[in-house]
This record gives sequence, C-alpha cells and structure tokens, in this order.
Amino acid sequence: MSELANGTIIKVAGPVVVAEGMTGARMYDVVRVGDENLIGEIVELHADLASIQVYEDTVGVGPGEKVVNTGAPLSVELGPGLISSIYDGIQRPLDVLRGGQGDHIMRGSTVPGLKRETKWHFKPTIENGTKVSPGDFAGEVAETTLVVHKIMIPPGISGTVEGLAEGDFTVEEPVGAVVNEDGSRTELKLMQSWPVRRPRSVARRLAPREVLVTGQRVIDAFFPIAKGGTACVPGPFGTGKTVVQHQLAKWVEADIVVYVGCGERGNEMTDVLMEFPELKDPHSGEPLMKRVVLFANTSDMPVAAREASVYTGITIAEYFRDMGYSVALMADSTSRWAEAMREISTRLEEMPAEEGYPAYLAARIASFYERAGRVVCIGGPEREGALSVIGAVSPPGGDLSDSVVQATLHVVKVFWSLIGRLAEQRHFPAIDWLTSYSFYKQYLSGCFEDKDKGERMAVMVREAMSLLEEEAELSEIVRLVGAESISAKDRMTLETARSIREDFLHQNAFHKVDTYSTIDKQFDMMAAILHFHKQGLAAIEAGADTADIFGLKVREEIGRAKYIAEDQREKIARIRKTVDEQMKQLQTLA
Ligand code: ADP
Ligand code: MG
Repeated sequence: MSELANGTIIKVAGPVVVAEGMTGARMYDVVRVGDENLIGEIVELHADLASIQVYEDTVGVGPGEKVVNTGAPLSVELGPGLISSIYDGIQRPLDVLRGGQGDHIMRGSTVPGLKRETKWHFKPTIENGTKVSPGDFAGEVAETTLVVHKIMIPPGISGTVEGLAEGDFTVEEPVGAVVNEDGSRTELKLMQSWPVRRPRSVARRLAPREVLVTGQRVIDAFFPIAKGGTACVPGPFGTGKTVVQHQLAKWVEADIVVYVGCGERGNEMTDVLMEFPELKDPHSGEPLMKRVVLFANTSDMPVAAREASVYTGITIAEYFRDMGYSVALMADSTSRWAEAMREISTRLEEMPAEEGYPAYLAARIASFYERAGRVVCIGGPEREGALSVIGAVSPPGGDLSDSVVQATLHVVKVFWSLIGRLAEQRHFPAIDWLTSYSFYKQYLSGCFEDKDKGERMAVMVREAMSLLEEEAELSEIVRLVGAESISAKDRMTLETARSIREDFLHQNAFHKVDTYSTIDKQFDMMAAILHFHKQGLAAIEAGADTADIFGLKVREEIGRAKYIAEDQREKIARIRKTVDEQMKQLQTLA
C-alpha cells in the first residue's frame, strides 16, 4: 500500500470538499480539512481525488488549504462514560463543546467521546491466568446506579490474562494485560473503539420471539414490537411521532436507551435537551438519563454530522447489546437523515433517483435497520442481547408513497401509521388501527406469566380488531342510509367499537397514570370492554333496549379504567362483575 499523502483542497461545495493529491487514501478514511482542522470523511475516491463530507461548517474554508488523512475510519469510543452523555453526530460531548464556546461548537475541536480524567471503579470478574478471546467479560464497572458496564476483551485480542486487579482507573489506564501464545502482550483498558459504519460482530443471529413491552396500549396489544425488532412511525407534521418516541424512551422495557434526535424544527431538539435530563425512570425512580445515551443534532449543525449520527448511535447501541442487554434505539426523524444523504449526494453530483434521493437510499436504510436483532453475543459467558430499532419518518405532507417511507417499510416489521384525521380529533396516539401492522403479533400471549391469560388476550385483541373493522363498514352504511337502518346488534357493535377506541386505544401521554399501562392492566381493560359487549348482546337477545344498555352506569367505570393506578388494578377486574349485575337488573326490568 502506498503512503498516505496530504492533499490540497480544490473545491468547496457546502458540506462537501474535494481534495487532490490524496495518494493512499481509502473510502471512509477520516481526514482533517483546512487550516482549522475540520473533521471530515472520504465518501468518494477517483485516483488521488477525494470527495470529503465535512462534519462542520465549511464557511471560510477555501481551495489551496491542506487535507490531512488520519488513515482511520470514523470510529466511536466505547467504554464507561457513555451513559448519560449527550453527543453530537460524531460523538463529541455537547456539554464540553458548548461549555467554553457559548452556544456554538468550536470548529475543528477534538473533544474525545469519553472523559479522560474520570476514574472508574473496576472489578475483575475473571482470574488472572484465564484464557480469553474477544467479547469475553474481563470485569465490570458500575457506570450508573442503573447500568453495570461490562468490560469486554476487545476484537482481535486473545491469550492469557495477567495483572488484572480491582481498582480505580481512567479509560486509558491499563487494568491488566492479555498475553498471546506468540508472546505479544496487549494492555487491557476500560475503553475500546469500533468503526461506526461496520456492524459489530455477533456469534449468531436469532429470530425475535418476545414482545418488547412499551406500556402503550395500542402498541402492545395491537401492534407490538419485539425485542430485537424493528418499527417505523411515519406521519404528517404534528401527529405525534416525537411524542411516541419519547414515550418509548421513557417506558420501554429496555436496559439501555439510545435516542438519536434529528430535530425537524430547531426547538424540537432543544425540547429533548431540556426534557430528557429532567425525566425520571419510571421503573426505578432514578433520573432516566442514567440509562440513556443521547444524540442531538440541532438545526445549526451541519448535515454530514446528522448523516453520521445514526451510525454513531447504533454502534453504541450494539456495544451495550454485546454486554447481553436489551437495548432500544429511537431515531427521530430518519427523514432528516435521508435529507442529509440527499444533500451530500447532490454536492457529489451523483445521479439522483426518486425525489432527488441517491440511488443507494434504500440500501442505506435497509442496512441501518438490519443492525437490529436478537443475538447470541460473542465471548463468554454465553448470553443473549437484543437491539430494537424504532425510526420516525416525516414524509412531506404525510405522503406514504414517499421514498423514505417506502424504503423503510421494506425492512421493518412493524408499521405504526399516524394519521392527521385522528390527531385532529385529538385521538392520541394517532395510530391508525386499520392500516398499521405488526409481524410480531403472535408473541403477545407470551407477555403474560399465565399462559392461559396470554391466549385469552390474543383472542380478545382479535375480537376487538374485528369489531373495529366492522365499525368502519357499518359507519359507511349509517352514512348512506341512516342509523335507523341498522339492527340492534350492529348498534351494539358500533358502541363497543367506540369504547375500544376511546377507552382503550386512546392514551394520554401526559396523564400521570394513563401514560403507562402494564400488560395486565391492558388485559383487564380489554376484558371489561368486551365483557360489556358480550353481555349487551345477550341483553338484546332477551329483549332489552339498546338505549338502556348504553345508558348503564358501568359504562362510566369502563371509561375511567385507564386512570386507575396499577396498585388498584383489581378495581378494573371487578368491572366485569358490575357489568353482570347491572345487565341482570336491566333484563329483570325488560
Ligand atoms: P410530530 O413529531 O409528529 O410532528 P409531536 O410528537 O410533536 O408531532 O406531537 C404533536 C402534539 O400532539 C403534541 O405536542 C401533543 O400535544 C399531541 N400528542 C401527540 N401524542 C400524544 C399523546 N399520546 N397524548 C397526548 N397528546 C399527544
Ligand atoms: Mg416530531
């Protein structure tokens, strides 16, 4: 291989810089651009001519300035200190970057991703003399009160461990060493690195088989996502994509959450930056940030950094997966990522495909979601990890034929379609039950400890779904020929469907209790609604009037069930008895 030569800028086009004389350069090498040493990455190479996407504002950079190749791909630092961090797209901590520089990031700054001064208490979990290979646990650091950070043998290193000892170390200090059979000795540190564009290695990929409970009823019961699964949330502006992502970040049953924010509006990202540090982890009562890594692309940040941020985010998510954790990654919105790709592609003068996006858009989107999954991790002890990925998509005008939506739907297994009509009616989450889908539905029954209960839930959800479908048809008939034309039984169907929508599907993210429902609470709520339906039909059979049935007091109780806290849940379970009592009175009267 030829030596790495420094190049010279011959052209600057927005976030893209072209340099000549880049002998020895490889695709995706990281380079330092211009007199200010801006950080960039080679995205196109023709002989010694390199096109570079620059992660920083290129204002003031001009032809003739130098480009220095680092010879290494864009990588992230992996080790204690990730959790609670707020990073830009190339893992520069925003607090440090912004600290000295007002609100603006210092250009060309190389603040490392992991703090160098912090000492972490390391505890070995293996004996000296143990034979190790990549991925093996060597020890652990209690990174936060919620996360035990497993220190793993880095890729490419195997041999016998020596000098491992408990103590306080910075991420750069050796905590021991690995001696290879060939005599070579590698120091073991708390920190390692990985190139972001390459998926981290796994021993084996497994099919998802368990539901990732989110506490959001329409999601868990009707359109569940699996641990290690993929989902997308498309919808027009203002339909609740960001609220869904925030709800998942707060409530999802994952050990670690990686949140990649590509703000659509300037203030949306600011919301994340302000709100997340304030949030409490509902399961532990600790600050939520103690299990979160946050990426923030504010609107004043260059597009290339946004392009990189989904890769930086997913690499860190994979790293925690490799420790055997269940990790959930949310990206809001992937449309902003795709637009960054489009802008860079235009500057590279590539041939555009549909809507001006590059021809490789679909392939990039697919390879991003394919990094999700349930896996057997490499190394010992034997363990499984899962990485679930949920991407918001914000197509212009909410148009689902949009290239980003279509490319995403080709790979993801869950589709939560947010629609404007529901948002206008303040039916939130505005997930359309008629067009959304999940390929993980069959795992819902497994959420319940009691297998029988799980089966009953699955049956109930199917029944609820067919009532909603019937409602859509009946509404059409009612619109055409009037409400009088339908039978009492059909009126019951409409009433129950309304109850399913309003009392079950509708869920207020901002209500203290309603914001989260355990899977058992979801069961009891659904059971109450459908029991009312069943008994209502029986009453109609027995000659009761539908107006009397719909007027029963127990209807109010069903409507209020969502506000009943988990520790009072037996009150919801008791509603079914109340239904029986009140229906009986009705039939006695009739
Ligand atoms: P988008 O990201 O799709 O543009 P947002 O997530 O910002 O939309 O949601 C817009 C508004 O809709 C929110 O500010 C909130 O008022 C309302 N909203 C969305 N989802 C819910 C929900 N589950 N509960 C209550 N309000 C919601
Ligand atoms: Mg949004």
